Amino acid sequence: MQQQDELWIGTMLEGNARWVLVKSTEIVEEARSRHGMSPVATAALGRLMTGALILASSLKGDESITLRLLGDGPLDGVVAVGNAQGEVRGYVREPLVDLPLKASGKLDVGTAVGRGELTVSRSLQNGEVYSGMVPLVSGEIAEDLVHYLLSSEQIPSAMLLGVLVEKDYHVAGAGGFLIQPLPGAPEEIIQAIEDQLGQLGAGISELTAQSAAMEELLSHLMGPLSYHVLEQRSVGFKCTCSKERLKGTLVSLGKKEIADLISDGKAEIVCHFCNERFQFNVEELQEIWEQA
Ligand SMILES: [Zn+2]
Repeated sequence: MQQQDELWIGTMLEGNARWVLVKSTEIVEEARSRHGMSPVATAALGRLMTGALILASSLKGDESITLRLLGDGPLDGVVAVGNAQGEVRGYVREPLVDLPLKASGKLDVGTAVGRGELTVSRSLQNGEVYSGMVPLVSGEIAEDLVHYLLSSEQIPSAMLLGVLVEKDYHVAGAGGFLIQPLPGAPEEIIQAIEDQLGQLGAGISELTAQSAAMEELLSHLMGPLSYHVLEQRSVGFKCTCSKERLKGTLVSLGKKEIADLISDGKAEIVCHFCNERFQFNVEELQEIWEQA
């Protein structure tokens, strides 16, 4: 039986650092099956969606965060959107990209993403959008998000993101872990965190696949470090699309384009984020033409 995905938030080392842990196995598997993705595309999107959930966990109300990886690699762009409710969605432009494994036996996400930039946009409650952009460090995503947090928000962080894809392409484990020492944390605290993360024998995706519950995963990641759990939330794949919203997209095409669709007799729109298909018949298109 599959376990619901969860996101936990807490403190560690007597309040000298905060952490966020997420298990996203079901979310990444749903994204894989909706988009029909190859293993390397699944790993890239899965890591970015997991990172979006972590960064969205400090948002409130109807706020959301959009992460865009625009690299020159064959994936041709990866996008993930997370919100304060713990919902996430996303897509890669080229879901079928296949690349040889790295010498380490891992999926080559860095090459699939390529060189380029990471854009982070936060939509706040008042409707304002704040965006920041940094060049990609490696395209491996966790490193790129850490670089963004440090250079754009001056927050030093350590982050693990991982997706384990089985030979039959299904997702066996996916998760993410963020640690941020609080301002003024003594040097030995930072050293203790680095030592603990450095000695983990397996990646977070393997640890997630092996752990029966969040407690087990968390205690494995923390090792001897003291910690405290403050919040436990459920998280899931959820798209915000609807036929009504996509009507708006059609209206924005303009009268001429819509007239062409009417002469075709029907139109179909596919949502990028979830691959859901929406059909529009002639009567509906005529109504849209009048609104345009
Ligand atoms: Zn959708």
